[in-house]
Amino acid sequence: DRLITAQAGQYEEVQDRAIRPGVLADYVGQPAVREQMEIFIAAARGRQEALDHVLIFGPPGLGKTTLANIIANEMGVSIKTTSGPVLEKAGDLAAMLTNLEEGDVLFIDEIHRLSAAVEEVLYPAMEDYQLDIMIGEGPAARSIKLDLPPFTLVGATTRAGLLTSPLRDRFGIVQRLEFYNTGDLTDIILRSARLSSVTIDNTGAYEIARRSRGTPRIANRLLRRVRDFAEVKADGCISESIADQALNMLKVDALGFDHMDRRLLLAMIEKFDGGPVGVESLAAAISEERGTIEDVLEPFLIQQGYMVRTPRGRMVTSNAYQHFGVVRSAPEGE
Ligand code: ADP
Repeated sequence: DRLITAQAGQYEEVQDRAIRPGVLADYVGQPAVREQMEIFIAAARGRQEALDHVLIFGPPGLGKTTLANIIANEMGVSIKTTSGPVLEKAGDLAAMLTNLEEGDVLFIDEIHRLSAAVEEVLYPAMEDYQLDIMIGEGPAARSIKLDLPPFTLVGATTRAGLLTSPLRDRFGIVQRLEFYNTGDLTDIILRSARLSSVTIDNTGAYEIARRSRGTPRIANRLLRRVRDFAEVKADGCISESIADQALNMLKVDALGFDHMDRRLLLAMIEKFDGGPVGVESLAAAISEERGTIEDVLEPFLIQQGYMVRTPRGRMVTSNAYQHFGVVRSAPEGE
């Protein structure tokens, strides 16, 4: 298993509940998102209206689900949670919609994976709070229309480009989450440590933060593993040196890359001469799914300047050659 995947494991969800921020004031970083959401929420509350529909996009583990829960909390309403692949039939969505109370938040994770039939039901629901659905089949089929209470749809997706444009256009508020800087991740780690009674100093938190791939979920996960190391190999306190030793043992390198990142970059260098290479060929070369490369691996490597996406395919940058100490072979003909 990959230690630094940004997807949450089931057991992790339980541990996370204690440290997940519940209000905007505790949502670290993302200043632009926070400032805007504060205003939109205050305005909707002032008018006693449901908040406009919100689309949140960003790589896994950056805080989309957390933000959806905070929105419901700050609006003083309930949240019902589901996801694109779970809503198989139009009726599944209808059941969720008819269970909402006025102002409630309906959170749909992985909203880009809704089927076309389910999406069709969502449009009038989002636009006019109308449920318009066919029940039954053949000659007995009939359509029913129902009024829904005003509600807020919060949709989350890894990449905005995955959404159909009619769906995207129906969100009044679109928020894009960015990778977190080391300062923000240090704050998140110190906060999580405090809430779970872990002893850590600022330098220890900083060391974990800078090796967390800009991702709060990974920061919290590395904190738990480093804590294990500190308790077994030392006196339980996490210092810079303990964090460094623990992360080296976990094979998380100084840049926060793990074996998957290294495999991807090295495959590009060694098998494809640095690129350009198509994502399908790359996926085959490292036996990884295309979606994992696109959603989990490459966004961070691109943001950090180790690879680029060009119209002809992916390419590594000189930073990658330097990081691995590989001397670039001269292009043919030179
Ligand atoms: P996503 O839905 O984008 O995959 P989550 O909302 O589940 O990500 O976030 C993963 C974990 O990271 C959360 O459980 C929470 O503990 C932590 N986290 C995310 N964003 C923040 C933030 N802005 N401040 C503090 N902790 C955060």
